[in-house]
Amino acid sequence: MPFIITDPCIDTKDTACVDVCPVDCIHPRKDEPEFAAATMLYIHPEECIDCGACVPACPVAAIYESADAVPSHQKTLVDANAIYRAGDANAVANAEAIVKAHVASHPELMAVPAADRQAAHAKS
Ligand code: SF4
Ligand code: SF4
Repeated sequence: MPFIITDPCIDTKDTACVDVCPVDCIHPRKDEPEFAAATMLYIHPEECIDCGACVPACPVAAIYESADAVPSHQKTLVDANAIYRAGDANAVANAEAIVKAHVASHPELMAVPAADRQAAHAKS
């Protein structure tokens, strides 16, 4: 079961996870054209080998070890991770649309600083 990036990444997007991933399955990387416009980063579900290296690297605890572990109101972001494909404009647009809808639906959470957002999710 692949790891999942969630919304604390939105204000952060520092690519610390990209630097430690042994199979280069987190996108977009800084050298990919989609990076500047990307709302957050995504883990390719079929390429992730479940090693867990990205979790401690993330400064804002945005990464969960499975879809089941993702808080209920972040479940749509599981789908965003699942469909994002670097270099595929439609897939990128569809994933970004899911994230933007999530942001629009949860203004209270987006107002929480990224470093505190996972805790805010856990309580809600
Ligand atoms: S769990 Fe391992 S393989 Fe999967 S995204 Fe994280 S670092 Fe990459
Ligand atoms: S380390 Fe965390 S915040 Fe940084 S890009 Fe990866 S998932 Fe996003």
